[in-house]
Amino acid sequence: MINRWLTFSVCLLLGSGVGWWLAGKDGLEPGLLVAGFAWLLLDSLYIAKLLRWLRSEQNAQEPGVLSSTAPVIGGVWGELADRTRRLLRSRDRQHLESQARLNEFLSAMQASPNGVVLLDPDGRIEWCNQTAAQHFGFDAHRDVMQHIANLVRDPLFTAYLASGNFSRDVTIPGGRSSPARPVRLSVHLHAYGNRRKLLLSRDITSLELAEAMRRDFVANVSHEIRTPLTVLSGFIETLQTLPLKEAERTRYLGLMAQQSQRMQTLVNDLLTLSRLEGSPFPDTSEWVATSALLAHCEQEGRALSVVLAPAGHRLEFDTGPPCELAGVQNELLSAMSNLVTNAVRYTPQGGLIKVSWSVLDDGRGEFRVVDSGPGIAAEHIPRLTERFYRIDRSRSRETGGTGLGLAIVKHVTQRHGAELRIESQPGQGSRFSIVFPAARVRQLQRA
Ligand code: ADP
Repeated sequence: MINRWLTFSVCLLLGSGVGWWLAGKDGLEPGLLVAGFAWLLLDSLYIAKLLRWLRSEQNAQEPGVLSSTAPVIGGVWGELADRTRRLLRSRDRQHLESQARLNEFLSAMQASPNGVVLLDPDGRIEWCNQTAAQHFGFDAHRDVMQHIANLVRDPLFTAYLASGNFSRDVTIPGGRSSPARPVRLSVHLHAYGNRRKLLLSRDITSLELAEAMRRDFVANVSHEIRTPLTVLSGFIETLQTLPLKEAERTRYLGLMAQQSQRMQTLVNDLLTLSRLEGSPFPDTSEWVATSALLAHCEQEGRALSVVLAPAGHRLEFDTGPPCELAGVQNELLSAMSNLVTNAVRYTPQGGLIKVSWSVLDDGRGEFRVVDSGPGIAAEHIPRLTERFYRIDRSRSRETGGTGLGLAIVKHVTQRHGAELRIESQPGQGSRFSIVFPAARVRQLQRA
């Protein structure tokens, strides 16, 4: 401020000096006036420059521009401009920093596997991530500031939103859910800030599916075990209460043995399945001779045929070229013999069953079981490997089936990187084959 007075005083002195020099004593006053006026003019010019800079509308909207376009002016106004510029620069820096932090935060929310929607106090969408847009079928840009109730119209959600009680979540169908591809969402609202809401969504389709499968599985196992158990306890009661003849006792005990065998087979199959699910995938360190696998299948197939069909079946086995297969022997045996015994069980007596091993042109190995049995309608084929899926329930039970055989085959096949193929038509017999990848097949030299 002293500088300002000083420069003003110097300016007046200079003016009066020049006036004196030009016109003597009479020039003193005009010189003083002209100098004062010139100083005022220059000062006003500086103020105008400063004001123009501060008022600049474009500058005010774009951070960083205002601080870099400060006017070059002298004196106290120059200092004022300089200090303002420094203040603005620090404000701009803070603004950019908080913008960067906000962007990082939004990127983190964008990367969330769950849907995130921010709602304003009126329930309008302020921001949502791509996952939420996908879950609810929003357009992440176009639907901003739309009311959530206009976009998510499920009655359960509408009631949830209106209730104001967000202590639990609700499950609603996803925006793109269809009967063919149902999508289930778990949606949870959380209140925060000034009446704002955070909406979180989670796709629980596969979770619900797994839960339904688990429930079905437990119900099926219980049902499968309850039937023989009921029979067994009935016989036990009879044996305990009625004085039976020796022949009757023997018959009853035979039937009881049959039922307990049925339960044992079921438990064994269940254990096999859980072992298959729990153990690591087999590597290629263990090699098994295909001739040995087929010999085992032949033994099992012929033995079962004798038991089930008094007239037997025509069983043909072709062991093909001598080979070795990489995998777990027990698993391979279980899968292959399941296919052979199924063919024996479902083919009426006298029918033809052909079992073969061959190496395809591209080096893959094919184990194939073809039968002349009843065949399978197309609609059943994709479901045959589901646990407890049976077409002919009574035939399956009569022949000791558990409904888990093909589920085991599918697991073993997948674990060995192989492919299970089923071709069949009603009345035309069936063809089941397992095609192993070339990397698991090793041809041996014929002796
Ligand atoms: P199951 O113990 O009932 O045989 P699987 O899982 O082995 O169970 O087979 C599922 C169903 O597939 C069987 O119940 C049967 O209806 C059908 N199936 C399997 N193999 C054959 C076959 N070779 N011919 C006709 N139907 C078959």
